[in-house]
Amino acid sequence: MSIAYDYSRETPAAAFLARPQQQLLIDGRRVASASGRTFKSLNPATEQVIAKIAEGNEADVDAAVAAARRAFEGPWRTMRAAERGHILLKWAELLKQHADEIVEIESLDAGKPVAAVLRQDFPAAIDTLTYYAGWADKISGDVVSTREDALTYTVREPVGVVAAIVPWNFPLMIGMWKLAPALACGCTVVMKPAELTSLSALRIGELALEAGLPPGVLNIVTGPGRTVGEALVNHPDVDKVTFTGSPGVGRGIMKGAAGNFKRVSLELGGKSANVIFDDADLDTASKAAAAGIFFNAGQVCSAGSRVLVQEAVYDEVVERLTARAGAIRMGDPADRATALGPVISEKQMKSILDYVDIGRKEGALLTTGGERVGNRGYFISPAVFANVRHEMRISQEEIFGPVVSVIKFKDEADALRIANGTAYSLAAGVWSRDMGRVQRFAKKARAGTVWINTYGYTDVRLPWGGERDSGLGREHGTAAIENFTEPKAVWMNLNV
Ligand code: NAD
Repeated sequence: MSIAYDYSRETPAAAFLARPQQQLLIDGRRVASASGRTFKSLNPATEQVIAKIAEGNEADVDAAVAAARRAFEGPWRTMRAAERGHILLKWAELLKQHADEIVEIESLDAGKPVAAVLRQDFPAAIDTLTYYAGWADKISGDVVSTREDALTYTVREPVGVVAAIVPWNFPLMIGMWKLAPALACGCTVVMKPAELTSLSALRIGELALEAGLPPGVLNIVTGPGRTVGEALVNHPDVDKVTFTGSPGVGRGIMKGAAGNFKRVSLELGGKSANVIFDDADLDTASKAAAAGIFFNAGQVCSAGSRVLVQEAVYDEVVERLTARAGAIRMGDPADRATALGPVISEKQMKSILDYVDIGRKEGALLTTGGERVGNRGYFISPAVFANVRHEMRISQEEIFGPVVSVIKFKDEADALRIANGTAYSLAAGVWSRDMGRVQRFAKKARAGTVWINTYGYTDVRLPWGGERDSGLGREHGTAAIENFTEPKAVWMNLNV
């Protein structure tokens, strides 16, 4: 694989990428970092530097949090709720007008195929923003019956200043999962994108200002997790942290947030089981199982990284998955026919290739893929491991790459034991024509989402998240409205 881009070409994102430096967004202005330092962002498909980005530190976080606090106490919270919704809708319109530019930025920065960003990331971000814009003037409390001499009711108030910490696998979409509900509820936000993929956030942040978002309502501080992320988590004037990332960092966030009892919601990892019984439609199930692990090069928290197959059809499913993996079109993300791009970074590539070695050493059978392709760009051929035992590391640990472990099971009880037998609980899939069996599975699966005879769908109207190493709390739907508001009880004495 050898791809090279000429970044001076007149493409929709050319003007943005030509900037000498991508700056922080604080209090409605683009500013250099307090230290004046920058870091580089690479295109994972070519390893070319595509941007120099301001590297924030504690001083920048202080300035951003102060701006967010002023905006919270000032224009955003006091604005008519409907007006907040209108500004968010205007932002969605502006994003759509700049779709080509944003899609190109996301594809170059994250190595995502343009076709996938157009089909998934971008429309999902717009859908999320539009959905929560509609919520802005529909957040309400209740009148509650208590005593004859009292009027008692609840109101829902915004939690305040929110720190949103975002990973690199779906920068635009997951960023919007946090921004849209927080802003709709009347909170203000300091966002920290992942260092590897900060660009789309910076661009959409500028468009938010154009849409009329008052200064300070959305601030973006780019930079390392250890400085910017930790400063946000430890900051005494941040009221809530919403985080998506790894369980290790999530654990640290819970500890850091304890200082001033910040509200915390965490979306963490997964090792989701996609369970295929012998009466399933094997063609559809195998196709969905391949998409379930190889989409976004397996860098998906809910990837179906364990495919559990009943013994009678095990060999057939391994064969079908192997054939599908070999046929996936990998290549230049800018080519609309490309289905599989590179993984995000050299570090991630090495970690995935290490897991392929571990799988081999554990005695699993690699039926296809698992190799670096070319010597420029972080491309890995999609890998299928057969003869995987439940105890193996490749069956227990999140690889976060295009590697699937195919595990044999005997019966329903065996399938459940294996499916529920990891530290994670984000999602699970089940394939069978027996409706009793799939419903029994859905009841007993330890998973925040269960897919029946399908895999991988999400919708902002449905709750999303898991427990244990998969996280704490839920995003999406009404759950997110509850995340970003606090109920207040009001008691009025009617006898005065
Ligand atoms: P990560 O935890 O390394 O980083 C996530 C974000 O946290 C980044 O912005 C990073 O800069 C920041 N960060 C790093 N150290 C920090 C610290 N000490 N304090 C505060 N912030 C810090 O994870 P990643 O490598 O970016 O993403 C991969 C992981 O995210 C995987 O485990 C994956 O399963 C998980 N993930 C989960 C979901 C979900 O919805 N459950 C979605 C996407 C990714």
